[in-house]
Amino acid sequence: MKQIPNKVYLNESDLPKQWYNIVADMKTKPSPYFSAKTGKVVSASDLEAIFPKSIIEQETCTDRYVDIPEPIMDMYRMMRPSPLCRAYRLEKALGTPAKIYYKYEGNNPSGSHKLNSAIPQAYFNMRDGIKRLTTETGAGQWGTALSVAATYYGLECTVYMVKVSARQKAYRRMIMEAYGANLIESPSELTEAGRKILKENPDNMGSLGIAISEAVEDAAGRADTNYALGSVMNHVCMHQTIIGQEAIKQFEMIDDYPDIVVACCGGGSNFSGTAFPFIRENLKGGKNTRIIAVEPSACPTMTKGKFAYDYGDVAGMTPICKMFTLGHDFMPPGIHAGGLRYHGMAPLVSQLYADGCFEATSAVQSDVFKAGLLFAKNEIIVPAPESCHAICGAIKEAEKCKETGEEKTILFTLSGNGYFDMLAYDKYLHGQTEDIAYDEKLIEQSLAKLPKIEM
Ligand SMILES: *Cc1c(COP(=O)(O)O)cnc(C)c1O
Repeated sequence: MKQIPNKVYLNESDLPKQWYNIVADMKTKPSPYFSAKTGKVVSASDLEAIFPKSIIEQETCTDRYVDIPEPIMDMYRMMRPSPLCRAYRLEKALGTPAKIYYKYEGNNPSGSHKLNSAIPQAYFNMRDGIKRLTTETGAGQWGTALSVAATYYGLECTVYMVKVSARQKAYRRMIMEAYGANLIESPSELTEAGRKILKENPDNMGSLGIAISEAVEDAAGRADTNYALGSVMNHVCMHQTIIGQEAIKQFEMIDDYPDIVVACCGGGSNFSGTAFPFIRENLKGGKNTRIIAVEPSACPTMTKGKFAYDYGDVAGMTPICKMFTLGHDFMPPGIHAGGLRYHGMAPLVSQLYADGCFEATSAVQSDVFKAGLLFAKNEIIVPAPESCHAICGAIKEAEKCKETGEEKTILFTLSGNGYFDMLAYDKYLHGQTEDIAYDEKLIEQSLAKLPKIEM
């Protein structure tokens, strides 16, 4: 029998040199963005107030592959390839005949896959003459990734961090400051959006929606400043496709190929990065891999939401796009997987789901943490609470294999590590984790307020 190593790496020379743009292969092309102000299709010049030209080009690009510039490859090489690992001990603990692999994206200084897009976003802004970036962060992973990338390319970085998160996750704030970022607790007195909220309620502890509004306002108001978003948009999903492309090459090296691919889904970027190259193989390469997205039961965007036009943020400042949504003012309950608490889903992921290219399922918090701890005890890494959703989905499939005796190959993406999320584990371990179901009434109310778009 061929001995398969625990970890499969690639030679640097085998790293993907292009991003994969799934738009080229989609049966139904994604719908255009509409302006919240004018109700018309958003033009490139509308976006120029907050994004650089090269990112706007990528957002509407229809080429199948986009070259990765060499200065980006330089930084990718500092942290990539990410290993493809075989979870031998987890398989044994489950007693499953399935082969479980995971692609580990937490082995970089930011601790998650988000650096894969922060690097190109910082680079293209620098190349287009921008000096300063703004963004928002909730759980803190995206703010950390952008702080790392901004400092590498010599940009200033201002992060509006949801106040309640900044207080609860002080180490996240500290690491961003260590990388040189300017940390602002949101809502702040620095923007009109923030001042308005604080005037109504000085004790407002913030939300992702408010932080987005502040970061966008800051960027729109200064010529040397742009805004960067960590998920949802087409260019972000495309940047992440190095994950799946690497995985396909790594499976080639060990002469295997996944029957099932699993990833967690918040805004959809790590799912896109993992799944799009495999969806391409299904569509064009004659493969038949089952692809599964796992979302939290408390924020069930694809499994319970509607495929409709909606705003990307609470204040309605961002363009309107067609996506699976729970309604832009749906406030997901305070589950511990902060990165999965988003009312919408990437338009590309949404369209592919509507076209039946993959399955979606949901998981409750207690199952998610149970899966995460079983993984940690067997595979040593403490996973991010978001990533635990993918583990939970993969374990379910491995357990089915145990019943049927099928020796399937399962791949999931371990999108990040959980070392800044120990408070969440602490709560779970001490019986303070609630299984919050979604509130059907609230979703219904929020879906009644979708913007009307006439096409
Ligand atoms: C942000 C985050 C997610 C969710 O975001 P996506 O855009 O859906 O990938 C998942 N895992 C980790 C570790 C994250 O930081």
